[in-house]
Parts: sequence; structure tokens; C-alpha cells
Amino acid sequence: MKILLAGGAGYIGSHTSAALLESGHDVVVLDNYDNSSPEAIKRVEKLTGKPVSLYEADATDSKAVFDIMNKEKPDCVIHFAGLKAVGESIKQPLRYYRNNIDTTLTLLECMEKTGCKKIVFSSSATVYGEENPAPCNEEMRKGSCTNPYGWTKSMMEQILQDAAVADPRLTVILLRYFNPIGAHPSGQIGENPRGIPNNLMPYITQVAVGKREKLTVFGGDYDTPDGTCLRDYIHIMDLADGHVKAVEFSQNHKGVEIINLGTGQPYSVLDMVNTFQKENNIRVPYEIGPRRGGDLPVVYADAGKAEKLLGWKAKRNLADMCRDSWRWQKNNPNGYDGLEIEK
Ligand code: NAD
Ligand code: UDP
Repeated sequence: MKILLAGGAGYIGSHTSAALLESGHDVVVLDNYDNSSPEAIKRVEKLTGKPVSLYEADATDSKAVFDIMNKEKPDCVIHFAGLKAVGESIKQPLRYYRNNIDTTLTLLECMEKTGCKKIVFSSSATVYGEENPAPCNEEMRKGSCTNPYGWTKSMMEQILQDAAVADPRLTVILLRYFNPIGAHPSGQIGENPRGIPNNLMPYITQVAVGKREKLTVFGGDYDTPDGTCLRDYIHIMDLADGHVKAVEFSQNHKGVEIINLGTGQPYSVLDMVNTFQKENNIRVPYEIGPRRGGDLPVVYADAGKAEKLLGWKAKRNLADMCRDSWRWQKNNPNGYDGLEIEK
């Protein structure tokens, strides 16, 4: 199959590109490099020994997207192209709604015009909201999000579902990711956050490499075994394999499927810090600080549907995630192109 990855130069897109190429698929990437670098895709080509058709374009630019889709005629689109920083979305809600909703509408319209009928969408566990107790399963009604980023995901799911009702030939796979971390085992591609990392693992690796002084653990007084929040961390290579399975599944399926991509196994912030230190034999200084607004104490997946429907199950464990994240950070202290991370 030929797959168009919108936002494919980013963290999840670059690993998914590698996994698709390794599985024999053709890959077309469209990205505006708002939060990524073309270097990621160059490295994917090197790692796999296979070419990627790479386009610098904005996924809100109807003409550019139409021209690419008309030329490439992809069998399926994977929509990664979005802004994803929760805190930033609270400060810049309009930018988040504009970019995330517009990319979705533009991709759907261009699919309609060019006859592409399959789309896989990067959604998030955040749409379960605070109403749904863990483990989250796909039958649950969506909940209320605590920030504009989450609402864009919830709204985009609705837009995609409505499009599938209007066009029964459409296949829509909504993948709800839990917490992707880790990197390709080569240490050549990985997560490349700009500025101060919002997420736990890039913050830990930047402390370990000496870019930041210490980790602040957000809250030590939750009603959990060690007082810190529990999350379902999933290795990026498992997540990438999940996309390959979803794309292949979409070939012989019509309508909408919502599928969690998680391990089903929760770990605490302190589990993560301790495993990282032990596996990599490196110290990560930390202090327990106040809770971060909007954080839920416990979030993890019921991962049963992905196994049943896609025959996919996460294989890598927390130690693999910690080792691979560290290899990437150690080899690329300044990310791609030696991009300096602001201190
Ligand atoms: P990322 O920022 O590394 O990748 C997103 C890519 O989209 C970037 O390369 C960026 O340049 C590109 N992009 C953004 N707006 C664009 C536009 N208008 N036109 C073209 N390209 C555009 O993020 P990621 O971690 O790889 O996430 C991919 C998707 O998965 C996002 O939609 C994100 O919201 C979603 N998601 C991520 C996580 C996570 O923890 N990483 C969790 C749940 C959902
Ligand atoms: N976390 C933390 N310190 C940090 C970043 C995150 O203690 O500097 C905690 C956060 O409170 C949450 C967990 O780590 O319990 C995962 O946070 P992340 O932002 O990576 O993911 P999400 O909040 O989306 O689950």
C-alpha cells in the first residue's frame, strides 16, 4: 500500500514511516516542520535503505495537499499533523483549534476530491476525560477534556465520524494513544521537543544528559501506591507497529473503529525514574513538587480491542523504553541538526 503521513516528520510519524517501510509499504510524508526536521526522514531512509517521498507543505493548504494527493494517489492517509502541547493550548487556544481542526477538514476534503477512502487518525486517551475510570475501553462515552488540545482531539474524532456517516465508503480508524515514549533502537530517531519538555520522559533524559538540573515530580500525594500518578507508557516502536496493523486492517474494513494503543499496564512517575536510573546506570535528581493542574491520578488502557481486531499487542517493557530513550538522547544531545534546545 501507499500511505500518506501528514505530519510524518514528527516523533510518531518518523517511527511509523520506518515501520511501514520495513513492512513493504510505500511512504509519502507531508510536513511543515513546525515541530520537526526533515533530518528525521533522511535518517529513516538510511535506517531502512528505502526512499520516502517527502513534501514540505502545510496540511491546512488545500491546494498543496490536493496536488500532493492527486500526484501520489495514496491508498490511505495517516493524520499526525497537529499541535500537541497541552499548556501551550491553554495559552493559544485559537491557534490550536485553527491548526488541528483545519488540517483535519483539509485532509478529508482532499481525500474526497482524489478518491482516497481510508484515514487513520492520531487521537489520544485524553478524550476519555475525567468521567471514565481506568482501564479505559472504547465503549465508554467520551468525557470532558481539561484543555483545548484535548478538545481538538475530541472534536476531530466527531468530524471524522460524521464524515464516515455521510460517506459509507469511508474507513476511519481513530487510534487513541496512551503515553508513547522511547525511540528507535538504533538511537538515530527519537523525540525532539523544542524548548522545555512538557512530557515526563524527555524531561528525564534532559536531566540525565545535564541540560536540566532536576526533575520536578508533579504531586506525591495522589491516592496511588507511591503517591505519584499512574500512566500507561507505550514504546514508540510498538505504537508504530500498531499503525502498520491499523493501515492494513483498513484495507478490508468500512466505517469507523476506535482503538486504544496502550499496554494496559500502569506505572508511576517514580517507577519510571527508578527504572531509568537502574537500566542506564545514571542518576536523575528529582524533587516532589505540587500537583500539575488537569492531571488525572490514574490513566491506563484496556488494550483488548487492538489485540482482537488488529492482532496487535505491545511487546516492549518499561526497561526497553528507558534504555532506548536514553540511547537517542545520549547520541543526539541537541536533537536533529544539532538544534539547540532553549534552556
Ligand atoms: P510531533 O509534533 O512530533 O509531530 C506532529 C507533526 O505534525 C510535526 O512534524 C509538525 O511539524 C507537523 N505539523 C503540525 N501542524 C502541521 C500542519 N499544519 N501542516 C503540516 N504539518 C504539521 O508530535 P507527535 O508526538 O509525533 O504526535 C503526532 C500526533 O499524535 C499529534 O496529532 C499528536 O497530537 C498525537 N498524539 C501524540 C501523543 C504523544 O504523547 N506524543 C499522544 C496522543 C496523541
Ligand atoms: N510529570 C512529572 N514531571 C514532569 C512531567 C510530567 O511529574 O516534568 C508527570 C505528570 O504529572 C504525569 C506523568 O508524569 O503524571 C506523565 O506526564 P506527561 O506530561 O508525560 O503525560 P500525560 O500528562 O499526558 O499523561
